[in-house]
Amino acid sequence: MRLGLYGGTFDPVHQGHIHAALSSYQYLSLSEVRMILAARPDHRDQPDTPNVHRWEMLKLACADHPELEADATEVERPGKSYAIDTLSSFRRRYPQAQLCWILGMDSYATLPSWHCWRDLLTFGHLAVLERPGHTVSVEPALEEFERAHRAQSLGEGLAGRIVFVPTSMLTVSASQIRCQRKAGAAPEHLLDHKVWSYINQHQLYVGQEE
Ligand code: ATP
Repeated sequence: MRLGLYGGTFDPVHQGHIHAALSSYQYLSLSEVRMILAARPDHRDQPDTPNVHRWEMLKLACADHPELEADATEVERPGKSYAIDTLSSFRRRYPQAQLCWILGMDSYATLPSWHCWRDLLTFGHLAVLERPGHTVSVEPALEEFERAHRAQSLGEGLAGRIVFVPTSMLTVSASQIRCQRKAGAAPEHLLDHKVWSYINQHQLYVGQEE
């Protein structure tokens, strides 16, 4: 079993996330991708949108994709949503699985600020979504770490490799969606239609400050 774990604040989940998750699923031949809601993120302010809404939207976005499953691990666990705690908990639950933490290049560049970041590779692999045309500067500690662990494929091991997924990220971000919505635009085409209906039904992202 080769399990993909894709974490995010998903405020809201958008087509960029879904495209990235499905591309990783295909490219890495994953059994499935768990979409893990960062309920109480460590790297950024707590989103204004309550967890219950972000969680409902994530479930709606995954509903039409059997490859994807909304995962409540970090919703149910109290305290900060550290990736290392999540990955180690999956390792305990799936001792024989290849685990693969999926993240975009922008998130990857911040890795050295993550709690116990080097230990992530003890419990799983990292799959980084490249972003053609964008160079993200990576600090020396991460460069060195990458040199030691970068590989062309996941291989057969359960953990320990960094692979790059050559898929293009769609030029969409959750902050762009929140801004557009606040300005009175309808960024409908960037979202799953059920997520868009939910946003309207609950009047989300109107009048919030960024
Ligand atoms: P915000 O704009 O609020 O920062 P975001 O759109 O970057 O949000 P997050 O939930 O913070 O979304 O991101 C979760 C993960 O998805 C991160 O690893 C990030 O790199 C990745 N990601 C974000 N946008 C895209 C995209 N358009 N395509 C692929 N991956 C993306």
